[in-house]
Amino acid sequence: MPTRKPKRRKPKMARHELYGDDGTTEREQCPRCGDAFLADHGDRTHCGKCGYTEWE
Ligand SMILES: [Zn+2]
Repeated sequence: MPTRKPKRRKPKMARHELYGDDGTTEREQCPRCGDAFLADHGDRTHCGKCGYTEWE
């Protein structure tokens, strides 16, 4: 009796948004760079300058 294996689809990865379109969105500043802002990814914030990631 053959077992049916359901094909698993890989979820689409959201593209990293380093900066907003307007650039005026209130963001946290990177503690490592100091002058760079952290991009909000929902459950975490990421610095596009040095790669610093902070989970909430
Ligand atoms: Zn940084």
